[in-house]
Amino acid sequence: MSESLKTPRTQIRRLPKRGSYDRAAVNLVLDAGQVATLGFVQDGKPLLIPMVYARIGEELLIHGSKLSRLMQTLSAGTEVAVAVTLLDGLVLARSAFHHSMNYRSAVVFGPSRAVTDPDERMKAFKALTEKVSPGRWDKIRGPNRKELAATAVAAITIREGAVKSRTGGPVDDAADLALPVWAGVIPITEKRGRPVPDPEWKRRFG
Ligand SMILES: Cc1cc2nc3c(=O)[nH]c(=O)nc-3n(C[C@H](O)[C@H](O)[C@H](O)COP(=O)(O)OP(=O)(O)OC[C@H]3O[C@@H](n4cnc5c(N)ncnc54)[C@H](O)[C@@H]3O)c2cc1C
Repeated sequence: MSESLKTPRTQIRRLPKRGSYDRAAVNLVLDAGQVATLGFVQDGKPLLIPMVYARIGEELLIHGSKLSRLMQTLSAGTEVAVAVTLLDGLVLARSAFHHSMNYRSAVVFGPSRAVTDPDERMKAFKALTEKVSPGRWDKIRGPNRKELAATAVAAITIREGAVKSRTGGPVDDAADLALPVWAGVIPITEKRGRPVPDPEWKRRFG
């Protein structure tokens, strides 16, 4: 067990046996996910924005246009909630009530800050690129001065959090087991398809 991210806010009240507050368990879900939904309050109103992210240690790194409202808000420093969901299966039960989903999901909270140190920013760009395709950073052209000037980087420190997961088949009422309707799990796996080369790459190098 690593450090616990349990706080009054992250304590899972509904089906707590499905949860864990272990930082390592939270990191496993964060590292397996591709898209994070960031939630924060702006002008007193809640807002959700999906983003690419990468984790370095206890921080989540986010990047975007310097002009974007999101990056300006995160760079100014605010409290952020982040959700990452991995869908593992559709659970088909005999009753409407017991239909469910198998999943691993992480919800974490923490303060944001602007990342301005050039080395730290470059580490963030590398982590974000490597998350999309491991090993790619060393092959591509890195960001140039103009691109760096246009891009803001923010970090969210993971201070609180939890993972929740569901596995297994439907949990039907005993009285429904005799119903002649199919029941079980339809697994869902996110997998990468066969790469489709860019036509210009193909013309030059294919
Ligand atoms: C793909 C998917 C589909 C779902 N569909 C449904 C649905 O249709 N109906 C339904 O009731 N629930 C559904 N859930 C579960 C849902 O996410 C909540 O856990 C549940 O509804 C309880 O909400 P609550 O606010 O009462 O939780 P509480 O237990 O009161 O939440 C307290 C704290 O626990 C943590 N927490 C709660 N839920 C999660 C989570 N999923 N992952 C990580 N941390 C969490 C958060 O820190 C939260 O602040 C689904 C979850 C996933 C991932």
